[in-house]
Amino acid sequence: MSTTSQVRVRFAPSPTGQLHVGNARTALFNWLFARQADGVMVLRIEDTDLERSEARFEVQLRDDLKWMGLDWDEGPDIGGPYAPYRQSDRLAVYREHAERLVSEGKAYLCFCSQEELERDREQKLKNQLPPIYSGKCRGLGPAEAERRRTSGEAAAIRLRIPEHPIRFHDIVHGAVEFSSEVVSDPIILRSSGIPVYNYVVVVDDALMEITHVIRGDDHLSNTPKQVALYEALGWPVPQFAHLSTILGSDRERLSKRHGATSIANFREMGVLPEALMNYLALLGWAPSGGTREIFTPDELKKEFSLERVTPSPAVFDMEKLYWLNRHYIKESSPERIEKLAEPFFVSCGFLPENSDEQTRAWFAKVVALLAPSVDKLEQLPQRAGLIFRYDAAATVNSPDNAEVLAAPKTAEVLAAFAQQAESDPGPMTPERFKAIMNEVKSKTGAKGKDLFHPVRIALTGSHSGPEFDKLIPILEEGSQLDLPHHVMSVRERLAAFRQVKRT
Ligand code: GLU
Repeated sequence: MSTTSQVRVRFAPSPTGQLHVGNARTALFNWLFARQADGVMVLRIEDTDLERSEARFEVQLRDDLKWMGLDWDEGPDIGGPYAPYRQSDRLAVYREHAERLVSEGKAYLCFCSQEELERDREQKLKNQLPPIYSGKCRGLGPAEAERRRTSGEAAAIRLRIPEHPIRFHDIVHGAVEFSSEVVSDPIILRSSGIPVYNYVVVVDDALMEITHVIRGDDHLSNTPKQVALYEALGWPVPQFAHLSTILGSDRERLSKRHGATSIANFREMGVLPEALMNYLALLGWAPSGGTREIFTPDELKKEFSLERVTPSPAVFDMEKLYWLNRHYIKESSPERIEKLAEPFFVSCGFLPENSDEQTRAWFAKVVALLAPSVDKLEQLPQRAGLIFRYDAAATVNSPDNAEVLAAPKTAEVLAAFAQQAESDPGPMTPERFKAIMNEVKSKTGAKGKDLFHPVRIALTGSHSGPEFDKLIPILEEGSQLDLPHHVMSVRERLAAFRQVKRT
């Protein structure tokens, strides 16, 4: 074992499903800690649950981590000095050390059948005793045990837990102690030859020279078994930091029930990776002094410290994530947002798959107009409905518009607007639009809301929305393009509106 003091951490997901926010935060905290300390980040795939593990989940995990902006220095995809990094490729290593423990008397062979263990467990529960192993095979002589195994009896390997309390220090939780009775002798290698999680994790962490084990606090109760294993194996115990549980807004453990919880969900919604990273960093960690909440990845690397991670549960606040996302959408280059937004418009049929340059240039304006007001990019097509799907009948019939449409000046304003617009068939520029509005104002005496709301409703379907200066060129240019949904020009809208309104 090396004696260098370089920080080495690992993220050790099981590829049994999508990467969800809790695990992503674990990955992030490991990464921040490693990068800050100029240490090493290891990705290890814990796939000993062969039935539930799938290669496609491993691929997706890696993609999701990379998308978030995380990287690693050693892992199954890039190798490294402690390879292999996938547990299913390390079974011989686990077997070797388990046999070593048996030969040293620190572990023993157990011949109890599943049924026997189950019966014993039920009996204990019935008598209100802790359902721990009876210790039946603990006292078998090694020679006798070996004879039974060689003769073909199925044998698991159990660790002999010492009869003293198990203590360890946790960076987040402080001093932790478990009495040995609640731990009982755990199986480390099943009779099928498949090792159990608590054992493999220790063998790997030790052999991969992990200095800090940073993971979710659902593993806190596993840690005494792991500490006992380090001691039995004669290996130094790493430092532990168990991160708090993440709760939903109802203070129940965050789950699918609460909506989006996987990284893939957020990515598909159009949450930017830096927003998610920023948000996850604040789940259980706060910078020293002050209430600052916006941190770029580089700033996080500088500011992060495990000592400031709190043991109390963190509540996942979707609104705060959206707030951060809005911030990062506004900060991003328009080209990036346009590129990220495009698939949303293609999939709803507003844009063709491969737009020509003119369409792209126009689309850039659409995105620039709407993006600053959305929480997540998936909202854009709906917000863009006023451009792509103007519906005169819906506009006229909408209860939201009823009051304005029935107002005394409305009919007069719209008639004057139409007359002005038709009197000059030239291009409808923002300047021209302004001149028309001035004419309408002086002709009808309407001003402010009475002037603008009827016109806005007639042209966009709603009395609130983006500035006309930006919107009008978009409508006019859009109407000239060959798009799957024709974008109606100002005059086309007006004509359609007046046709419905009159009938
Ligand atoms: N594979 C475990 C999990 O996904 C992680 C174990 C650990 O970090 O020790 O929960």
